[in-house]
Amino acid sequence: MEQATQASDISLWMDQLDAAEKRPRAALDGDASADVVIIGAGYTGLWTAYYLKQYAPDLDIAILEANIAGYGASGRNGGWVIGELAGEDRLLAHLDAAGRAECLDILRDIPDEVGRVVARESLNADFRKGGVLYCAARYPEQETRLRQQLAHWRAHGHGEQDFRWLDGAELDRQLKLATRFGGIFSPHVATVQPARLARSLARCVEAKGVRIYEQTPVVAIERQAVRTASGRVAAKWVVPAVEAYSRSLQGVRGHQIAVQSLIIATEPLSQDLWDEIGLAEGQAFSEWSRLVSYGQRSRDNRLVFGARGGYRFGGRLRSHFALSAEEVAMRRNMMLELFPMLGNAAITHGWGGNLGVARRFHPQIVADDDRGVYFAGGYGGEGVGATNLAGRTIASLITHRNGKLRQIPWLRNTAEVARWEPEPLRWLGYNGIIRSFDWEDRVLNNPASPAWQRRLAQGLANRMESLMQ
Ligand SMILES: Cc1cc2nc3c(=O)[nH]c(=O)nc-3n(C[C@H](O)[C@H](O)[C@H](O)COP(=O)(O)OP(=O)(O)OC[C@H]3O[C@@H](n4cnc5c(N)ncnc54)[C@H](O)[C@@H]3O)c2cc1C
Repeated sequence: MEQATQASDISLWMDQLDAAEKRPRAALDGDASADVVIIGAGYTGLWTAYYLKQYAPDLDIAILEANIAGYGASGRNGGWVIGELAGEDRLLAHLDAAGRAECLDILRDIPDEVGRVVARESLNADFRKGGVLYCAARYPEQETRLRQQLAHWRAHGHGEQDFRWLDGAELDRQLKLATRFGGIFSPHVATVQPARLARSLARCVEAKGVRIYEQTPVVAIERQAVRTASGRVAAKWVVPAVEAYSRSLQGVRGHQIAVQSLIIATEPLSQDLWDEIGLAEGQAFSEWSRLVSYGQRSRDNRLVFGARGGYRFGGRLRSHFALSAEEVAMRRNMMLELFPMLGNAAITHGWGGNLGVARRFHPQIVADDDRGVYFAGGYGGEGVGATNLAGRTIASLITHRNGKLRQIPWLRNTAEVARWEPEPLRWLGYNGIIRSFDWEDRVLNNPASPAWQRRLAQGLANRMESLMQ
């Protein structure tokens, strides 16, 4: 059908806010000072400010944001609040069983902690904890890999109450896919309207006395200060909370690279269509291939569907996310393969954003106690929940409290940060890995592919995946 995708400045989520909710705050003009200066008003910066005010209400905090709060990935994402960290199994691998269990408790609690703050502060974020369905949806090898993943989660310390196998009929009762080979349900995921969370969290911290300056890019981090175009802001502590945008700032630019992730949304769907599709309890869902696709049912009953993205040579940011017709069509076709009943549903929005990936493919908090600089990022597309834990952790480092959170082994000093390979190795490596995953997916999704080719495609993708560790 004819597509009428709206070229949104930022995202569907920002389009849903009224003008007053996203009106830019004033820029900072000239010099200033604060106890803590935070660079970037995405979730990392905002959660850090929130918990600093919880732990030490008298701290003087200023946030400097280049655009508006929520302009980055925080106002664009798929809205999954996940109770885990990307690469968590490797991150926690060296801990003993008791240490791992304590960390898993902290991580699984993240969506509930976000829910508690949303309720306590009356944030307008469409928060809903409906859990998540991981689905083997298109070819039998997905079931094998998903069952292996379940065994892995079990060995790692998660129980039946955390990840539960669903046979085809059980999955059908929650989500109706064109084909399915089974799935896993986990309760540890909530969904939000991402831009609402960012903008209402900004208002919340502002009401607690945090100064937010929008349209104020930081151009350099100095010793106990940052520099803007019009002046210098002195502070004892500096928190660069810029995720994918870190390449613009000397001192944190090597901590991660930027990749792009793209997403589409349908028009609001009728109740009849939702009766057919399911997701009645607000479950998020993901299709289990190496190139993950995922989605949620928005509060206004759209299907929001994200899949794939890209890496630009040199880690360059993408600044315009009005998707091309091909970018929309590719994602729509993937969506229709899962949900053929959506053949007549208009795709009203397509957008994307930059996110950060650290070399070890798990997020990190980089603490430079001598200089008083605390950086968090590299969430690898799983930052909506992780930023909350990062904010709590940075706030506890600055205020010297809550040792429990420091057990999560994602704290690094600057010397411990793994660096990305120089170009062109990075570009070649990234594209080699993605191409092998894409080829595997196409081979396995074709019932006519012979057994030898299926084995070859999986073997190659396994080998390429191991390069990511
Ligand atoms: C399309 C997409 C879908 C995603 N889906 C999910 C999901 O469903 N679940 C999930 O867990 N994660 C998801 N993610 C990842 C998640 O959104 C991010 O990990 C998270 O929002 C990062 O928050 P942040 O505050 O660290 O960074 P950002 O939200 O990117 O904020 C950084 C801020 O810093 C500002 N800034 C940059 N440079 C400067 C400067 N020099 N001076 C001042 N300010 C500056 C930017 O304008 C920006 O507002 C997705 C990401 C994308 C792009």
